[in-house]
Amino acid sequence: MDFELPAEHRMMREEVRRFCEEEIEPLAQEIEDEHRFPAEIFEQLGELDVMGVPVAEEYGGLGGDQLMYALVTEEIGRVSGSVGLSYAAHVSLASKPIELFGTDEQKAEWLRPLAEGEYVGGWALTEPGSGSDASDMDTIAEQDGDEWVLNGTKQFITNASEAGSVLVKAVTDPEAGYDGISTFIVDPRNDDGFEVTTVWDKMGLNASPTCEIQLDDVRIPEDRLLGEEGEGWKQTMKTLQGGRISIAALSVGLAQGAYEHAKEYAVEREQFGKPISKFDAIRNKIVEMRRKTERARLLTHKAAWQYDQGEEVVEESALAKWDASEAAREVAEDAVQVLGGYGYTEDFAPQRYYRDAKLMEIGEGTSEIQQMVIGRELGL
Ligand SMILES: Cc1cc2nc3c(=O)[nH]c(=O)nc-3n(C[C@H](O)[C@H](O)[C@H](O)COP(=O)(O)OP(=O)(O)OC[C@H]3O[C@@H](n4cnc5c(N)ncnc54)[C@H](O)[C@@H]3O)c2cc1C
Repeated sequence: MDFELPAEHRMMREEVRRFCEEEIEPLAQEIEDEHRFPAEIFEQLGELDVMGVPVAEEYGGLGGDQLMYALVTEEIGRVSGSVGLSYAAHVSLASKPIELFGTDEQKAEWLRPLAEGEYVGGWALTEPGSGSDASDMDTIAEQDGDEWVLNGTKQFITNASEAGSVLVKAVTDPEAGYDGISTFIVDPRNDDGFEVTTVWDKMGLNASPTCEIQLDDVRIPEDRLLGEEGEGWKQTMKTLQGGRISIAALSVGLAQGAYEHAKEYAVEREQFGKPISKFDAIRNKIVEMRRKTERARLLTHKAAWQYDQGEEVVEESALAKWDASEAAREVAEDAVQVLGGYGYTEDFAPQRYYRDAKLMEIGEGTSEIQQMVIGRELGL
């Protein structure tokens, strides 16, 4: 692996970093306090042409690769976990599967507006009764003439209340197990029977809407089936390889942001007549933050790079996601500690990173599930 990022990637990182510092960072605490999805930020991300970084240019994307997408996600996460989570769900979960599995017509109709940033998208797998064991779902889709009729409840769906499309997983053949699940493109704004029943208040990430949705006799034309009937589970596994890399990248961003806040504070804050960074306990904490962040970043870039070579990255994406999410939580916790009492206040950012980081160990497969996946890949 080449440890020097290509020039194009470095330029993109610089451009996005500047945008994040100027436009997102000043709003990050405010949107969290207000529990407000910042639509204006997503509009600007569209203008910056990053709403479809790893999507082909012919479908309105930037034509970048997974590594470039990881760099952009990291930069957003460095200033706002909420914007980062909605962004990652939009790209990895809501857009990428249409590019990978959709027909040309579906790409023209449903992928282009996502990639161009006309609206955000969502992806609905989880249900109230099935999370880690996601294939054990109750949502069903039945064929009726040239339509599909969807019924069920989906839980914790990022962006659903703001989305122009949601990819919904449903059982089409209850006897076929994993091969009885299919994916449907649902239009929350125009399909009757689609309702957001709850937008959850959470311990963090409150500017990223997390929704319960109800599908009550949602009738959609048959051309909204994504890929072949029965391929929904295989698609999910592939989608999560890319998705986990983006959650790893978001985690690296959170860790980086928390580390920078702690370092900056430690060289300025004086106790006992000198900067607290001069005390071994604090210096070593910051050094440790640096080690964990850099380690997570390398694992993430490696997984992204292998993904870009067309390799299966089941193990690598799980390793990166597990390690980076743990690093983000630990680094953010230490950042709160470095700031002492101020770290516990909302006037300083580390508390937000700490609350946001915890989700990274839960979403797109918990850490326990990542360990299960890695164990399976190792033949254990
Ligand atoms: C903010 C947020 C955003 C989300 N966004 C989306 C989204 O956009 N789309 C979507 O479909 N889902 C989304 N989710 C759902 C998320 O992926 C699930 O919450 C997650 O997969 C865990 O499922 P669960 O909550 O049902 O927990 P459970 O599966 O009930 O797990 C509870 C605990 O049991 C452990 N456990 C379960 N099975 C095992 C096992 N076999 N071995 C060891 N431990 C086990 C888990 O690790 C966990 O600690 C989101 C969740 C949140 C909180």
